[in-house]
Amino acid sequence: MLKVLKFGGTSVGTLERISNVAQIIKKIKDEGHDVIAIVSAMSGETNKLIEYAEYYSKTPEPRELDMLLSSGERVTSALLSIALNSLGYKTTSMTGREAGILTTDSHTKAKIEDIDTTKMRNALNEGNIIIVAGFQGVTKDGSRVTTLGRGGSDLSAVAIAGAIKADVCEIYTDVDGIYTTDPRIEPKAKKLEKISYDEMLELASLGAKVLQNRSVEMAKKLNVNLVSRSSFTPEVEGTLITNEEEIMEKPIVSGIALDRNQVRVGMYGVIDKPGVASKIFTALADANINVDMIVQTRGLDGTTDLDFTVPTNELEICKKVMEQFKAEAKNIDYNEAICKVSIVGVGMKSNTGVASKAFTALANENINIRIISTSEIKISMIIDEKYAELAVRSLHDAYNLDK
Ligand code: ASP
Ligand code: MG
Repeated sequence: MLKVLKFGGTSVGTLERISNVAQIIKKIKDEGHDVIAIVSAMSGETNKLIEYAEYYSKTPEPRELDMLLSSGERVTSALLSIALNSLGYKTTSMTGREAGILTTDSHTKAKIEDIDTTKMRNALNEGNIIIVAGFQGVTKDGSRVTTLGRGGSDLSAVAIAGAIKADVCEIYTDVDGIYTTDPRIEPKAKKLEKISYDEMLELASLGAKVLQNRSVEMAKKLNVNLVSRSSFTPEVEGTLITNEEEIMEKPIVSGIALDRNQVRVGMYGVIDKPGVASKIFTALADANINVDMIVQTRGLDGTTDLDFTVPTNELEICKKVMEQFKAEAKNIDYNEAICKVSIVGVGMKSNTGVASKAFTALANENINIRIISTSEIKISMIIDEKYAELAVRSLHDAYNLDK
């Protein structure tokens, strides 16, 4: 098999950790697989380089920043390569450019446009283990190094796995997979064996530290089998993130996600006439505000009440935008003490009674649901933040996720 392996910052955080990664690769190579490993910078390194740049300027030139930041991954790729050589293995380290990663020229947030796999294929044919510096590429005209945005080495790995048609792309971090919910909230949370791309994207709040969202989207698009596993316990299998069709027994509910970073905006006594919602949400969209859940209910005397949620870190801009609509409503208020709990599962599509079970579980705990929204594979509820953990635990229980 051809395996693409990606090792994140903590996995290569010290020289000993890099030796540990060399041992993981050695074992896979010894089993007869071809290996391309993508590495992040040593943990904390990218932040340190940004601080260095900011010593001179709060707004460093993006193209110079890319030159600087791409060095972190170069260091690890060379060190890992040298470590493997010392174990007697033939390797070649590659920068993003050498690996053929061609990107747009939007520095510090470049998009991968194409991957020329010729050099990687040749190196594999010569029996090399390839170590690629993640998070970077080169502009299509070959003129300048670029980086892919924070956390971008996951993206490098998935893109390479897709382009070279690897059998699997294993993402090594310091957690051993994706759990039914955050084990710090519910110690009975279980590790999932398999999960679909769409569920993974919906459970982002559980997996955010584990897999970059953009890379999951790309894995779905390129049909790359992803495995989330730990370099600290490499003997543990991890979670396979794959196509829905690959999952034979589709659980009705796979996991419970919690998002504390939501604010509820309430507009009360909005004049009930066509075009109001359109005006408000167009203005919010123009300000790049991510409106998540929206409900409109009938208020008093021909008015309506409009509730919606926005991410906490966008609240200040949201308040500014809402200034202009003051006259449209009797009152506008903002409630930060809320959170969003979501139940996610592909099996929901073909099962009834899933939602009512959630509502009952929360009702039994006397938790009031303020907003509900549903999609094919998700039910989200806005509740008071003080009930966040209780809600997660009771939902986890209601769907028997510990079994
Ligand atoms: N080193 C980069 C960062 O810290 C890329 C990565 O780790 O994926 O954002
Ligand atoms: Mg990272």
